Amino acid sequence: MDISETEIILSMGEDENTRVILGYLESIEDGPRFMKAARQISKTKPIIIIKSGTTGAGAKAASSHTGALAGSEHAYRAAFRQSGIIHAESMQALFGYAMAFAGQPLPKGPAVAIVTNSGGPGILAADACDRSSLQLIPMRKETADRLREFLPSMASVYNPIDIIGDASDERYERTLEVILKDELVHAVLILLTPTAAVDPEAVARKIVGLASHANKPIMTSFMGDKRVRGARRILQDHGIPTYDYPEDAITAVDVMLCYRQWLEEPDRQYERFEVDTRKVREIFASVIKQHRHDLVESEAREVLKAYGLRLPESCIARTTEAAVRAASEIGYPVVMKIASPDVLHKSDMGGVRVGLETDAMVEEAFFDITSNIQIRQPEARILGVMVQEMIPQGKEVILGINRDIQFGPMIMFGLGGIYVEVLKDVAFRIAPLSVEEADAMIHDVRSFPLLRGVRGELPVDIGAIRDALLRLSQMTVDFPEIIEADINPLIVCPEGKGAVAVDARITIQE
Ligand code: ADP
Ligand code: MG
Repeated sequence: MDISETEIILSMGEDENTRVILGYLESIEDGPRFMKAARQISKTKPIIIIKSGTTGAGAKAASSHTGALAGSEHAYRAAFRQSGIIHAESMQALFGYAMAFAGQPLPKGPAVAIVTNSGGPGILAADACDRSSLQLIPMRKETADRLREFLPSMASVYNPIDIIGDASDERYERTLEVILKDELVHAVLILLTPTAAVDPEAVARKIVGLASHANKPIMTSFMGDKRVRGARRILQDHGIPTYDYPEDAITAVDVMLCYRQWLEEPDRQYERFEVDTRKVREIFASVIKQHRHDLVESEAREVLKAYGLRLPESCIARTTEAAVRAASEIGYPVVMKIASPDVLHKSDMGGVRVGLETDAMVEEAFFDITSNIQIRQPEARILGVMVQEMIPQGKEVILGINRDIQFGPMIMFGLGGIYVEVLKDVAFRIAPLSVEEADAMIHDVRSFPLLRGVRGELPVDIGAIRDALLRLSQMTVDFPEIIEADINPLIVCPEGKGAVAVDARITIQE
């Protein structure tokens, strides 16, 4: 009753008789300690875990079951990924992966060859390859020529290698002998559909014979039920993974390749920035003293500045004259925004105007913004209107901090704009972030190519996003009282020109 999942992973990690660790998890007691243990053990043997209760409904069931609080799905996925844990999405995947890792060597690369006696399953496997990080390489000429020597003319010697419906166990064997010798092939998937010409058990025995000296993973999918049962048993008894359908075999190889990449990852680099923690401590103390949780805009700006983020030049004006003066000091064009501790989403209330070019436009904007707020949110306290440097030509991204009950501080990244909540194209990682993890999370979002630029656009300064993520990561580790924060948007300028935090919110708790 007093043994935790972390202790079990550590002890299985040391156990010489355990080659692969499988786990079913509902909750984790101590997230950081769990991640540290998993990070260490997963470098010596694979850890495959299925996590239940990741959805809203499941989490409720888990709470009543174990009394524990289930962490959010994002946090688990990030934690698993950052500590090398292989996440199984289903029970079928859990055992499917286990079979692959327990019986086969890891692939040395992404190139897969498929051998099949029927076209359809071969094509399905090829499609699955295409959706994975694996590659269905075309067979090189020497290999194709050697296959042609004995295969019927109807057969396909490229990839998938279709040895056609009248294939016997000998034809499977000769084909495999050629393929397994080709060092450009990193993994082999053998498919079999029962035909009148084939004895599935004889094929299984041939595979077993060849597998003992192949130094690459061999996976199989013998389809059909009764007629292949005996053959599957033979394969399983000899550690050769066999799957009901070809897609599962491909996914398992893909996961193995991913694990190999984890093993080869170099040690992480952590960057530590010179920051002004004293300033931040002062601001937080004064907010707490005033019994507040939300920082006002000027406080949030100070905090980000203390952590080295770039902010637009800005100034709060209480009158139109002051606004015009501020605008000419900052330089046109400018942006104007309502300055009020009570207005959370400024543009929703008509409280933001961008691209103001002249004194007259500033005067008009001042009037518009203040009257919009007076009409739409009469109880809001208005401190004035903020006149701000307009950041030209950038792309908007969102960075956030959140705190997970089990894993602690989480950093979020996504492309900004009003659709971020609908598209949910965001990436999460548990802090502290290494430089590599910050880079990986930027590349993780589906819309990443937009940051590189499309149709002649300039690429944005991705290094500046990484820098901002790392600074936020350091801030959330330094100040556990930050329970939520976001920079929305961080406007990222073209490469080499940096990024500017134009809007920020920070919430703290004692
Ligand atoms: P809110 O999110 O409260 O509506 P923001 O300060 O984020 O207010 O402003 C809304 C939008 O206006 C931003 O997402 C951005 O597109 C634009 N914007 C705000 N400030 C600037 C600026 N300084 N330079 C360029 N665009 C800006
Ligand atoms: Mg905003």
